[in-house]
Parts: sequence; C-alpha cells; structure tokens
Amino acid sequence: MKLVLGEEFRAEEARYDLRWNCEDCTRFDPEGVRCAHGYPIATHQRAGKRTEDLTFCKEFEAR
Ligand code: SF4
Repeated sequence: MKLVLGEEFRAEEARYDLRWNCEDCTRFDPEGVRCAHGYPIATHQRAGKRTEDLTFCKEFEAR
C-alpha cells in the first residue's frame, strides 16, 4: 500500500507513536541490516531513504 508522506501523516505518526518501519518488525535482522524473509527494506526502513511514496509492508509484525 502506498501513501503520500505528507504533513498529516507525519503528525499522526508522532501523535499515535505509529510503528511501521523494519526496525520495529520482528523479522528485521539488525546485525545483517536485512529482512529475514528477504524482502527489500529501502522503502520502509527508518534509516533508509524516505521518499514521498511511503510503502507499508504487509508482513510487518510489531516487536
Ligand atoms: S517483513 Fe517487511 S517490515 Fe518486516 S523486516 Fe521484512 S521488509 Fe521490513
């Protein structure tokens, strides 16, 4: 699912402490900086490049 990273999203992300990045996912391997399932992480990794198009991962599972 793609959303535009706008001011409204940024405000809600902060207000509700939304977790959606790979770093908050049980499948993220912080030592290898990779997804344990082999998915690309660039569009939803917190430390990665953040573009105007935000992509949520359907496999995200909160820690
Ligand atoms: S399952 Fe999705 S959100 Fe979780 S680490 Fe892999 S790519 Fe990131």
